[in-house]
Amino acid sequence: MFRELLTLEEAKQLVRQHFRISPLGVEEVSLLEAPNRVLAENIVAKLDIPPFNRSTVDGYAVRAEDTFGAEENNPVKLKLLGVVNVGELPRLKVDRGTAVEIMTGAPIPEGADAVVMTEDVERKGDELVVYSAVVKDENVMKVGSDIKKDEIVLRAGQGLGAREIGVLAALGIDRVKVYKAPVVAILSTGAEVTEPGKPLAPGKIYDINSYSLSAAVLESGGKPLRLGVFPDDINEIERALKTALAQADVVITSGGVSVGPKDIIPKVLGMLGKPGVIICGIAIKPGKPTTVASINGKPVFSLPGHPASALMIFHLLARPVIEGLAGRSSTENQVVKALASTRMFSAKGRRTFVTVRLKKDEKGLFWAEPVPTGLSGAITTLAKADGFIEIPENQQFVEVGEEVQVTLFQRLSF
Ligand code: AMP
Ligand code: MG
Repeated sequence: MFRELLTLEEAKQLVRQHFRISPLGVEEVSLLEAPNRVLAENIVAKLDIPPFNRSTVDGYAVRAEDTFGAEENNPVKLKLLGVVNVGELPRLKVDRGTAVEIMTGAPIPEGADAVVMTEDVERKGDELVVYSAVVKDENVMKVGSDIKKDEIVLRAGQGLGAREIGVLAALGIDRVKVYKAPVVAILSTGAEVTEPGKPLAPGKIYDINSYSLSAAVLESGGKPLRLGVFPDDINEIERALKTALAQADVVITSGGVSVGPKDIIPKVLGMLGKPGVIICGIAIKPGKPTTVASINGKPVFSLPGHPASALMIFHLLARPVIEGLAGRSSTENQVVKALASTRMFSAKGRRTFVTVRLKKDEKGLFWAEPVPTGLSGAITTLAKADGFIEIPENQQFVEVGEEVQVTLFQRLSF
């Protein structure tokens, strides 16, 4: 059936050859829609941040040199002129021997070059007794010290998270150009697969994949379009795939790619458009029956039904395409060195991925302990895994204590 299994490298190569992996286009969104998106423009500061010299404390704006020598038992006395509040331009000027009360975040008045903290003074009517000296610029945040006008603060290609969005808001920017997020249609297959929220009939299981894959798509910068669960019926699957292809930039299915009589996905994919199926079986474990088609240039990734395998193959093949379309630069996952805590075997002749949990010993060394997901298909154990190790095709096992590279799941959905 899978007579000519491709190696993982061959499969990845075919994916790169057949599919566009560059951004789909640019759109403008509000800051609230911007998280998780990728900037499609350089952001140049149109103003200095802060826009004026401002006080970082509640206290008294002074000329630093007026306070020189001030100590607990040798205070300096200044004349208090008034107050500067936040949000207003100071009208008072600080001349020699004077001070102005100031709030945190308020502009430093002309003439002043430092702020004495409230804790270090005593007020006696319009006389200010200063018990501690300040130096020039003390407790002052200078204009442009955070961001300089005309500086490029963020560059095209940069992903937008909370911190970047804070920077945009600081500059008064409320809309930004970002790359379009590819729409990824997701459908589950199988007579046994039931929509969560519905009662579970005997012999049925709830649909995991369309939800875990939707989350994975979101994490990859795509827009998931969950189409639901479809029975293993050629006509129904054909109709569902046509709908998916009409609405989405990428299609992901799960289940129905093995060699059972109900596994009809490859057959349907062959009927939909050119060139059709380009990958039909990969020499990896898990994920051997993975099928990929190009339907008039659109990728359809048909993943195995087993939830752990589906997510693993999503990560290996589909995610780079979605990230590329979303304008993300290729994201290498973080890899850490660890020691194998037990002997881990590979599947004969197939690249084997073993999900592992990391434990740190008292010497600070990481140990990689396999998380069994294979036969049981348990999703909860997978949720506890930190990453995976790869055992090459030509290696039978990894020995106890052998150094392994663990690819962390950080940006994965499990
Ligand atoms: P298949 O690839 O269709 O033979 O499915 C392999 C295994 O994964 C079977 O035990 C299925 O019941 C299970 N499975 C398939 N699709 C899903 C899904 N959407 N959610 C949870 N389990 C699934
Ligand atoms: Mg099935």
